Amino acid sequence: MKEYNPKEIEDKWQKEWEKSGIYKIDDNSDNPKYYSLIEFPYPSGDGLHVGHPRPYIGLDIVSRKRRMQGYNVLYPIGWDAFGLPTENYAIKTGKNPRKVTKENTDTFKRQIQSLGISFDWSREINTTDPKYYKWTQWIFLKFLEHGLAYKAKMPINWCPKDKIGLANEEVVDGKCERCGMEVVQKEKEQWMLAITKYADKLLSGLDTVDYPERVKIQQRNWIGKSEGAEISFEVDKSESLKVFTTRPDTIFGATFLVVAGKVDRFTGKYAINPATEEKIPVWEAEYVLADYGTGAIMGVPADDERDMEFAKKNNLPIVTEYKKAGFEDFGTKVVKYKLRDWVFSRQRYWGEPIPVVHCDKCGTVPLPESELPLLLPEVKNYQPTDTGESPLATIEEWVNTTCPTCGGMAKRETDTMPNWAGSSWYFLAYLFNKEGFEGPVSIENWKLQIKNFRHFMPVDWYNGGMEHTVLHLLYSRFWNKFLFDIGLVPASEPYKKRTSHGIILAEGGEKMSKSKGNVINPDSIVERFGADTLRLYEMFMGPFEQAIEWNESSLIGPRRFLERVWKLKEKLALTKSSDVSFGKHDQTSLDKVFPFATTLLNQTIKKVSEDIETLGFNTAISTLMIFANDLDRREKVFKEDYETLLKLLAPFAPHMTEEIWSGLGHTSSIHREQWPEFDETKLVSDEVIIVVQVNGKVRGQFSALSSINEKDAVGVAKNLLEIQKWIGDKTVQKSVYVPAKLVNFVTD
Ligand SMILES: [Zn+2]
Ligand SMILES: [Zn+2]
Repeated sequence: MKEYNPKEIEDKWQKEWEKSGIYKIDDNSDNPKYYSLIEFPYPSGDGLHVGHPRPYIGLDIVSRKRRMQGYNVLYPIGWDAFGLPTENYAIKTGKNPRKVTKENTDTFKRQIQSLGISFDWSREINTTDPKYYKWTQWIFLKFLEHGLAYKAKMPINWCPKDKIGLANEEVVDGKCERCGMEVVQKEKEQWMLAITKYADKLLSGLDTVDYPERVKIQQRNWIGKSEGAEISFEVDKSESLKVFTTRPDTIFGATFLVVAGKVDRFTGKYAINPATEEKIPVWEAEYVLADYGTGAIMGVPADDERDMEFAKKNNLPIVTEYKKAGFEDFGTKVVKYKLRDWVFSRQRYWGEPIPVVHCDKCGTVPLPESELPLLLPEVKNYQPTDTGESPLATIEEWVNTTCPTCGGMAKRETDTMPNWAGSSWYFLAYLFNKEGFEGPVSIENWKLQIKNFRHFMPVDWYNGGMEHTVLHLLYSRFWNKFLFDIGLVPASEPYKKRTSHGIILAEGGEKMSKSKGNVINPDSIVERFGADTLRLYEMFMGPFEQAIEWNESSLIGPRRFLERVWKLKEKLALTKSSDVSFGKHDQTSLDKVFPFATTLLNQTIKKVSEDIETLGFNTAISTLMIFANDLDRREKVFKEDYETLLKLLAPFAPHMTEEIWSGLGHTSSIHREQWPEFDETKLVSDEVIIVVQVNGKVRGQFSALSSINEKDAVGVAKNLLEIQKWIGDKTVQKSVYVPAKLVNFVTD
């Protein structure tokens, strides 16, 4: 028999699948649709590491199972390729970012394809392709048209090292998320997207989707809606100070006011508490945020821990017993949010140009859609300028243009979009037909795509990293909701269900990174163990949602399991249990040959089916291992049992199962077989011990399902070694069967 040779098998089937287009969606299918989505990768110069494929394999298993359940499955992939890493690499090496992106995507693609993931490659997209970003630009123009994109001079978070304006979300503890540099504030005209106008819709939409509770909580906290009141406090008779409070009922307990400041100090001023009419001091403190509420609060030590701490530290009065006010007695009801509008400008090269011009006469003028895409021009130097302008500002022949409205001189906008832009609508781009990319940018062309949107949206299952729970997930929900409101997409929430995977850490528990030199390249693992082993290992190594350490020595377990399944072919017996004719076997092998494993088989189908739905890939695999071991203990394995094992294993190890399947004489793919179903009535074992007598004397016993029929029971009993001993050459005159209890042979 042929040894298990993954390399040969995997190359063969990957080519075969590509040729047959088995993973392409069927445009004419009447089957229900299923849209599985993973966060499309950023093709960095480092290539793929073993952490990348974990989510791809996870949803590949789901997608493969869905196909076997009869769904028309869309499982696409593309490249989120604009942004800083490529640009910084281009600056360092002097290479064109477009070329760099091409090289990187080629590498990523080859690596991902070597893993046998059932992506529909015919729908591959790339955010840096003008055929793609012409639509990103068009959607921006829609925001502009509807008053949701605007320019504002505002202090922005500025990273002096990256020379880039950062969104609040990109600043972590006052430092640049990318490089760790201390972020400074800089006044600059910025394009803004009014995401705050969608705060309530983004909140209420969360009640309609299946996201993990922690994800919902993170989004809710980020939006930070609080209902309260604004109350005016008279300060020194001439002025007044407005405070925001979520607890206006505690005003009788307010013993001081605090305004946002850099240091903790007394301002020297006093205010009058309108409830108690007492004079209370006005302080300045860091713990009050300038951009939250009115930037001022009333201090109620009895009801707020931070106020209490502050009062104790500064010897301020503390009132513990006080009267509760009615919720609106002293102020006006207001709703406040932590969420801020989205800074949508970047002063960098490698992004989508913002399609507007600035005309002295007409002001800011959007480009007509017929002029889209506004191509990113070639530039010699990708370095951002020291003035903070984008490198595009240095290309005079590009910057100077004519105004689409008056025909006079105008200047192009030189800021580009953040790399969140392309990923805010990519789940729609996968649904585009050819005309969508090749045809003009127009509402008519967009409307040609709506049929597909209607069919496939929303995404049924979206898996991605926990680190994108606030940023990407919120932004893309916002874009989709806006497009929904203007009638351009059919579903208000883009993702029905969201899950997250844990990252794979390097051995030793550190994050894998090129700089630490601890990155594991999947190529070498595929070369040595095979893609199926890598897939199985990544799903088996631990709970899918938890971060876990890579451990190379553990790869051997999944590999041995696959070899065991491979070798089980040698034990194949007849198709149906009732066809078995019993030869000379010993007791134990007879136990093995008989289908006592019905219970285990049904339990296995149930467990694997359910575990896949709850991301329990590791426990699904161990269930399959137990089942395979059980088959292996038997002398003969029934084809139907073996084929069920193969079908259940197919989503995990698609190449090997396909090879065996074809070797068993099937002419169509195992990945188009029907997913096995279990029999609810056979989940509980009902094995019984059947006693065997010869001429009324107990000579042996065997175990069987209680439902065993007379013919089978007599057949097994007669062939037991110890019974053979007693029967010998004698003729069995008659056999008596007491169902599920006893067989008695009467000899001459
Ligand atoms: Zn930075
Ligand atoms: Zn003009």
